[in-house]
Order: sequence, then C-alpha cells, then structure tokens
Amino acid sequence: MQKYDIIVIGGGPAGLMAAGRAAELGAETILIEKNNRIGRKLSITGKGRCNITNSLELADFLKHFNNQGRFLRNSFSSFFSNDLIEFFNNLGLETVVERGGRVFPKSEKAVDVVDVLKKWCYRSGVEIKSNCEVKQLIINEEKLEGVKVFNKTDNRTNQFFAKTVIVATGGVSYPRTGSTGDGYRFAKSVGHKIIPVRPSLVPLEVEQGFCDKLNELNLKNVSVSVWVNNKKETEAFGELTFTDFGISGPTILSLSKTVVDALNKKNSVKINIDLKPALDNNKLDTRLIRELNNNGKNQFKDILKTLLPLKLIPVCSELTGIPTDKLCNQINSKDRKKLRIWLKDFSLDIKSARPISEAIITAGGVDLKEIDKKTLSSKLNYNLFFAGEVLDIDADTGGYNLQAAFSTGRLAGEEAVKNCKL
Ligand SMILES: Cc1cc2nc3c(=O)[nH]c(=O)nc-3n(C[C@H](O)[C@H](O)[C@H](O)COP(=O)(O)OP(=O)(O)OC[C@H]3O[C@@H](n4cnc5c(N)ncnc54)[C@H](O)[C@@H]3O)c2cc1C
Repeated sequence: MQKYDIIVIGGGPAGLMAAGRAAELGAETILIEKNNRIGRKLSITGKGRCNITNSLELADFLKHFNNQGRFLRNSFSSFFSNDLIEFFNNLGLETVVERGGRVFPKSEKAVDVVDVLKKWCYRSGVEIKSNCEVKQLIINEEKLEGVKVFNKTDNRTNQFFAKTVIVATGGVSYPRTGSTGDGYRFAKSVGHKIIPVRPSLVPLEVEQGFCDKLNELNLKNVSVSVWVNNKKETEAFGELTFTDFGISGPTILSLSKTVVDALNKKNSVKINIDLKPALDNNKLDTRLIRELNNNGKNQFKDILKTLLPLKLIPVCSELTGIPTDKLCNQINSKDRKKLRIWLKDFSLDIKSARPISEAIITAGGVDLKEIDKKTLSSKLNYNLFFAGEVLDIDADTGGYNLQAAFSTGRLAGEEAVKNCKL
C-alpha cells in the first residue's frame, strides 16, 4: 500500500507550486499528472513566452478578476507577485517587466518556467508520477483516504493513499493540454456545487461574411465597445485581430466574458470599433475635408490609404456605399458623414463565442462559497483542498491567471501540511 502525507492531482502551475511547497515543508508528497509530462499548458502560455504575473499593486491587480478579489486576498497576501518573482529569481530564472506591468522570463521561454519548477519539486522531495490519471477520490464512510488511478504506462489501475488531497486539475479550456474538467467530478463526488463553466478570454464569431478577407489583420490603438441590446456595456482600448471566423486579440479576449454572458441570455450583441479614437467627430471631419480638398482629382481609395490598412479599404467601400474609384472632388457631405460615422463606429454583429476548448480561461468551477479562503480546504471535507483554475476564478490577460494559480497552489500546499499534522 503506497501511503503519503499529501496527494496533489495535476501538474500545472497550481499543482507544482502546491506539491513543491508541501514537500519543502517536510510532507511526503506525490504529484500525479495524467500527461506524460508536467506543465503542458504552462509551456504554451503567453504565446510560448509565459506571462508569469503582473507588477500592479494589489488593489489594482484585484480589479482584473471577476468578483473573486475578496476570496483571493488571503492567497495573495501570503504570496504575491513580488514573492513569485523572487521565488523564480532564486531558482535562477531571471525575469523582465514589460508594457502594462507584464512579467516574463528573461529567456522568453515558457518551457524554462516548467523546467525550474520541475527541478525545484524534485529537489524538495516531491515524487512526480506522470502518465497516471486520477479516476476518483477514495472516500470511506465520508473519510477521504486517497485516490484511484489508471497508470497509462502499464495499463493498470492502482490506489494511492493519503489523509490530504489537493485538487489542481485546471478548467476545461485547451483540453488537449490535459485540462478536461476532471476536478469538477471529484468536487461533485463530495457534494460540491459547480458554477456552470463557460469560455472566458475567447475569440468571437462575427455574422458579417467579410471577416475572412480581413484574416490576420491586426489593428492597434483602437477603441472597442460591447453593445448589448443596443446599450453600451463596456469598452477596451488596444489591439484587435481579425480571424477567418471573426475577431480576437487582447481587447476582444478581455471583453469576451461580457459578450458570452449576454449571448447566453439570448441578447443581441454588437462590437463597435472606433478606428480613430484620438480624433473626436469635429477633428475627424476637419481631417477628412482637408484630405478630400488636397486630393480632388485622386480616387476615394487614395485617401483611404492614408486612413486605413489596405485590407480594410474594400470593406469600408462596401459598408459606406462609396465606390473606391469615385473621385474625391465628387464626394459630397453626405458621403463624408457616412465615412466619418463608419470610421468611429465600425459595427460587427456577434454570432457566438468560439467553443470553450479554444478559450484561454474557464469561467465557473468549484463554488468559492464552499471553500475556506484562508486555507483553500473544502468546507464539506477538511482534508480536501483546491487550487488554481478548477476553482471559480478567472481574470483578464496580463499574468493575473497564473499568479492566481501559483498563489492558491502555494497556500493550499502550506495549509495541507498543517492539516496532515492534525
Ligand atoms: C494558450 C494559453 C495561453 C495562456 N497564457 C497565459 C499567460 O501568459 N499568463 C497567464 O497568467 N495565464 C495564461 N493562461 C492561463 C493559464 O495557463 C491557466 O490559468 C493556468 O495554467 C491554470 O493553472 P492550473 O494549474 O490551475 O491548471 P492547468 O495548467 O490546466 O493544469 C492542470 C493539470 O492537471 C492535470 N490533470 C487534469 N486532470 C487530471 C487527472 N484526472 N489526473 C491527473 N492529472 C490531471 C492536467 O493534465 C494539467 O497538467 C493561458 C492559457 C492558455 C490556454
């Protein structure tokens, strides 16, 4: 019978941090990962560069979460971004702070983050069992005793025993990385409520058919707003990227949760793009008059080249109804108004969000009301702990999600050690 102090399920950032910390504090710890290698999702984060955390002060940092700030305060006050940066620096991983306070490894390689975490876990004494999938919690007369596993290496079912189990199985997005929602099943088996899971930080599909012509067009410094049933809900400023099915990029990802929630309630959703946010209507009109006057004998498309990326010109012409070959001196004030309105209000009807498998983050998960925020243990079974994205936690892009995984992992690891000494 294989008996440990602590079993950690899941070798992502939350599980690695939990296991390493528990072992560092002297607990006999096993980390069970179903993939043949740990940290699969972590190794593709930040487009392979891993945006580890963000240098914002706590109060501003918490604003990037969706109402989970109060829950996370304890995890962050015991281990926050400065602690995480110091932790990695001490392990030999240098870090750099980029635009918007985003922190990355200096090497720009997410795999280096996985590598130092793995080495730290081994050095701390964690037994890492990969290629081994936890199938269920072993519970006897309401007492948690361990986990049942399927070992993919020898195709055998096995059991591991421990008084304390930490579930760090992630959400359901990017399932090929191993995050397939198993933790929700484990949580439900002890009576936990799961807040319905839905995609967050997800690209959006657009009704209009012209998006495929704009595929890969990246717009910088645009203002993007979400309109639900013709009422403005929220906005973001920055980059937007067209895809063959619709839109993505930082602004869209960060606005997507509002869109998903509105679509789920069967509301109509539009995304409006202000292509000239630095110019108000008057200034833009003055600029258009100047361009048209200076280019009287040139065609409409010639002045559009000074205003728009090339790929957008046919779309602008189609939506404003102004032919690209119309001479500028034939463009009247009605045309000019149409152009000005379109430049400030390029409107796209949203059909749907892409599936949760393509979302960066899973919104929803284990209900935070049933988790003790000071220890991260289940209020329904004190020997069971949760950490990371399996919980109902989701934030914007910018390093917030990984910090949440690391901080909750660390706290769960420390509290689990105290628990197994009781
Ligand atoms: C493409 C992409 C880019 C991202 N970039 C960033 C970024 O730059 N910055 C940022 O802050 N966030 C980023 N995120 C989000 C971040 O990766 C996640 O929030 C974070 O990985 C969650 O950590 P976790 O440990 O809770 O779960 P996961 O990383 O999902 O790890 C869970 C682990 O548990 C294992 N597991 C699941 N079920 C079982 C089972 N039954 N038995 C054994 N093992 C199991 C899985 O195989 C997996 O390895 C990105 C996400 C994606 C998809």
